[in-house]
Amino acid sequence: MSTDPDAVPVTDPVGLLSQGHRSPEPDCPEDRSAVGAVPQGTYRLMDWLEENQSQVDALVLDIDGVLMIDHGPTAGSRALIAWLRDMALPFVLLTNDGCNSPSQKAEALAQCGVDVLASELVSASHGLVDLVDSRGWRGHRFFVMGELGQPSFVAEAGLVPIDDLAQLDACFGVAIGEKHYDWHATITAVFNFLLKQPHAPLVVPNPDLYFPISDNRLHLASGAVASFLASLCESRGRQLLPIYLGKPHAPIFQHAHRVLEAQASRRIAPGRVMIVGDSLASDMEGGASFGYRTGLMMGGITTAQHLDRAARQPDVVFSRI
Ligand SMILES: [Mg+2]
Repeated sequence: MSTDPDAVPVTDPVGLLSQGHRSPEPDCPEDRSAVGAVPQGTYRLMDWLEENQSQVDALVLDIDGVLMIDHGPTAGSRALIAWLRDMALPFVLLTNDGCNSPSQKAEALAQCGVDVLASELVSASHGLVDLVDSRGWRGHRFFVMGELGQPSFVAEAGLVPIDDLAQLDACFGVAIGEKHYDWHATITAVFNFLLKQPHAPLVVPNPDLYFPISDNRLHLASGAVASFLASLCESRGRQLLPIYLGKPHAPIFQHAHRVLEAQASRRIAPGRVMIVGDSLASDMEGGASFGYRTGLMMGGITTAQHLDRAARQPDVVFSRI
């Protein structure tokens, strides 16, 4: 991706730089090679895997910035998936995309020749399923700001999605979606709801503040709305703690690990799993916190300068698939 987060003035109240996570409308261009400066000591992912098979029992692959760049497949992404199937190495694809369901995302990949099953994708939506079960929220009404996939993953998680502002006060909590909605009316109403209902949960697909799109512009993401609401509530003395589902937070990793173990039909130690992603903040930090080995893919949103400044270095740096 050509977007350089360094070039963008951005506040980061949730402590994370934004990650790109969108590829909803693939146009299936030719394979695109990783771009940008590559630090010394990097590997080609498939070479590394072939040399280190004994060290890895499963892979967790980020989609945007690893398998796809700017709505198209990266060079080698199809071959990697085929190789993983040949080797019977369990893998899941991990995405913070909150507005496309796993089936929509799998379809977008398939249109570009990267054949994966929806069941091989784990998204922020899966974290909500686990959350609904663990907190006993099934059947509760949640107001949805914008869209959260078609079908809405709020409904698929067992909640009752509400999009009528007139019914907001009858809701148990709020979920922040994306795409287009009346920001002024909706944010104003939700802000007042959260002040009146201090224990109402605010669920957010991911903490991303923005994401890059193909015209080199940055679009605001659900994390930006969550940060805005949190700052508004704080100004009124209410500490709002949004519940984030996606990377680098635990719910998405917990679900991904269960999928890997189901594929393998056995327990897998986290230290035997490698996550490959292009984000230091969400992929590397999130994966390392979960106990995974970390492989940073250059050519996505992380530059060599970002890597130099990182407090925690990834275990391996890959120049390309
Ligand atoms: Mg990525």
